[in-house]
Order: sequence, then C-alpha cells, then structure tokens
Amino acid sequence: MKITFLGTGTSQGVPVITCGCIVCASNDHRDKRLRTSVLLETGDKTIVIDSGPDFRYQLLRAQVKDLDAIVYTHEHKDHIAGLDDIRPFNYLLHKNIDIYATDRVQAALKREFSYIFTDAKYFGIPQINMHTVTDENFNIGETTFIPLDIMHYKLPILGYRINDFTYITDAKTISESSIEKIKGTKILVINALQIQEHISHFTFEEAIAFAERIGAETTYFTHISHNLGLQEEVERNLPPNIRLAYDGLVIEV
Ligand SMILES: [Zn+2]
Ligand SMILES: [Zn+2]
Repeated sequence: MKITFLGTGTSQGVPVITCGCIVCASNDHRDKRLRTSVLLETGDKTIVIDSGPDFRYQLLRAQVKDLDAIVYTHEHKDHIAGLDDIRPFNYLLHKNIDIYATDRVQAALKREFSYIFTDAKYFGIPQINMHTVTDENFNIGETTFIPLDIMHYKLPILGYRINDFTYITDAKTISESSIEKIKGTKILVINALQIQEHISHFTFEEAIAFAERIGAETTYFTHISHNLGLQEEVERNLPPNIRLAYDGLVIEV
C-alpha cells in the first residue's frame, strides 16, 4: 500500500495566519502543513482518510487522478470541510464516492452539507454512497479497516488499522482494547500537537510515550502545530524510529 501524507497540520494549519514565529516564517517546505489527511492507494482502491478545508488543493498538489472513498475519523471542521470537492470525480469520472462514517459523523455531515442529502436534489451536488461505520471491521475493495476507539477529550472518535499501517489523529486517550488492536503494526501515525499540555490532543511527550509503548518499526507524528518547533530541530532530537511526517511524504507499507 502506498501512503501519501496530504496534510500534517493541526486545525489552523502551519503557518498560522498573522503569526510571525520562526516556524511560521520558516522556508523549509516541511514546516508548511495543511490540515491533516492521508491518501491510501491499496492496489484496487484510492482512499482518503478525512477531507479537511484544504482538500481540493491537496488533491491537486499530490496529482490525485482517482478517488473511490473517504473514511472519516470524526466530524470536526478540519476533518470534513472539503467534502464538496469530490464533485470532479462525479462529473469527470462518472462515479459516486463511497463515504464511511459513524452515525454521529453522518448526522454532522447532514447538518454541514444539508444540500447533499435533500430529497429535491439540485443539479451538480456531490454524489455519494453512504456506509455506516460501527465497531466492526469493514472492507473497502480487498482492504480491511479495523476501527480503533480513540478519545478526543470527551468525543469518541476513530483511528484505523489497515494491515500493518495504523493511523490515529486527534487522540488524547487510547483504551487498552484499542492498544491491543494496534500492537504489531509496522507503521504507526499518531498526533503530536505541541510541547505544552492540551486538553484534547497528545502533547509531544505523550506521543513519544505512546510510540515507545507500541514499538512500531517507524512512528510518524502528524496533526502538528506551529508550537511544536521546526521540523529540522525537532527531528534531530528524536530517535531514528520516530519521525515527524510532513506534507507530501510518501511511504510504502
Ligand atoms: Zn507561528
Ligand atoms: Zn483535528
């Protein structure tokens, strides 16, 4: 499976509008982070996890030519806002996009994108096929997704294990039962927001402790804020098996 990090930034992205800190002013392309999303090319399907506000530009930048499905972690705006930008796949490729979301996330999509779900459909709206995600494993094409219960402060959200790849964003606490499902993964992606404590996201230290507990061959941090520091400096002080993801990073699992 080929994995492309489409975005690795927290909800405001990096640089932050009006901020003049060294990270926001950095010329290193890796310090420029769009909102968190990842592209999975499984062999028979092209899938993204989350479609935030930068979705359109992310697909153009990564030269994505096909899309079959969007899998959602949760309904916060930085994870869903770009749903409308699936329309070129509807028009040009004549295909509906499969959406995988829990009932609660579906309710949020129906509020935020009510026009997609009305009975009297306006011409040109996004064309989707909705699939309900529960605690059960599900398949997209030949690939199995294992939902992982994650707590984003008080909001239950989902991470996913897909074969030897595990993707978790916006975690603050992770249950023992989810940890059991993650064990043995070769690649772990986990959120690491900043050094300072935060109510709903892992700090840098919490992310390192989690990475060490899981012991994946390589762990990549994502959902990064400008407060974490410069890519170059932060990575220099990390063990070789813990890396900061950056926009455009491609890995194979
Ligand atoms: Zn800044
Ligand atoms: Zn988020």
